[in-house]
Amino acid sequence: MSILKKYLMPSQYVKNVFEIRPEDLKARGVKAIITDLDNTLVGWDVELATEEVIAWFNQMAKAGIKITIVSNNNETRVAAFATPLKVDYIFNARKPMGQAFKKAVKAMEVTPDETVVIGDQMMTDVLAANSNGFYSIMVVPVKSNDEWKTRVNRMMERRFLAYFKRKGYIEWEE
Ligand SMILES: [Mg+2]
Repeated sequence: MSILKKYLMPSQYVKNVFEIRPEDLKARGVKAIITDLDNTLVGWDVELATEEVIAWFNQMAKAGIKITIVSNNNETRVAAFATPLKVDYIFNARKPMGQAFKKAVKAMEVTPDETVVIGDQMMTDVLAANSNGFYSIMVVPVKSNDEWKTRVNRMMERRFLAYFKRKGYIEWEE
């Protein structure tokens, strides 16, 4: 069953992106971030970045850490969010497939081991990161999503998280 751990257990689990500090990333040699959008940076139904999210992007830029938003959502949604931030993005990313991540690291001129992947979903974000050699940071979803696909993923996530806890793989609280 350690195959589950390998592919689905996040390297790190945090309450929100704001717990991810540029100085901690730099200390670990991280040069770039690939981040999910919906329910990771803002709620799925929030069109634009909040002040806090803008400040977080600015902190990362100041520290020289590059960011690409990689989302499974469509161009309209992702472009409307990313353009005011002047941040690179990939839409229709098809996570957990890894192609979008490969494209992102190539464009940022970094390697997977210099990059962290941030996302709120185990079955897309964490799976895509872990199966392509990235450090994965899972965040608690900003807002729950009513879409059926997401609900199914959440159900599976809860089971896997419970399993990892039972096995003593994780210490963090949900
Ligand atoms: Mg998401």
